[in-house]
Amino acid sequence: MKVVLAEIFNSWQGEGGSVDGSAFGRRQIFVRFAGCDLKCEWCDSRRYIIASKVKKWRYEIEPFSGHFEYKPNPADVEDVVDAILRLDTGDIHSISYTGGEPTLQRALKQIMERMKELGFRNFLETSGSQPKRIERIAHLTDYASVDIKDETAKAAKDWKDLVLREIESIKILKKAGAKTYAKLVVTGETKIENVEWYAKLLKGVAPLAIQPREPMDISQERLMELYRTAAKVMGRENVGLSFQVHKYLNVL
Ligand code: SF4
Repeated sequence: MKVVLAEIFNSWQGEGGSVDGSAFGRRQIFVRFAGCDLKCEWCDSRRYIIASKVKKWRYEIEPFSGHFEYKPNPADVEDVVDAILRLDTGDIHSISYTGGEPTLQRALKQIMERMKELGFRNFLETSGSQPKRIERIAHLTDYASVDIKDETAKAAKDWKDLVLREIESIKILKKAGAKTYAKLVVTGETKIENVEWYAKLLKGVAPLAIQPREPMDISQERLMELYRTAAKVMGRENVGLSFQVHKYLNVL
């Protein structure tokens, strides 16, 4: 089976903060897939979201070296497994599948199965837009970060329907036993009533990591207000802040 990839590298997980299910600060091997079904305004993987335009994928020969080897797309599953194993530094918490949107790749299941057989744990970073695809891999997922796309992301035409599909994906993952949290990127325009709605949907289901969009355009006062709104509904131990710390460390 073939897969359209963007890159594979070994780094720190920089997101998720301290909410349950987060792997913040852990070493991971990241498998970034090409292709996405959404169109978020602030996408930081924009050059990878149209899979047909990603002719080559790369893997970092040594972690943090900035030296890459390039290979043509689509890739064989065994090439992916081989690149992951070459990047194993012996301190890997889990393999992160990210994108783009990893669940769009049919071969994701096969890769996750192979990594489980090899003794690794699987960490899925997904928009959660495709609950049916999540169903196929939920049993192979140890950890999951599922987006709740705020209205200001303009990710899809029917934004409310997207949020409901994301909640459904979270429920599927939780039922399968995956440690799962929801990630909400907020902006200066994020509405309080929307955060209240997400919090009501997530209450008793999964914790929420609130992450300011970068570069930050939200005041501390507003951020606290959004946080408090979610914490009041979900319970104070179920909400946390997340920042993209890997960007401050200047690593991939
Ligand atoms: S879901 Fe992620 S990869 Fe897809 S457009 Fe949004 S930010 Fe970009």
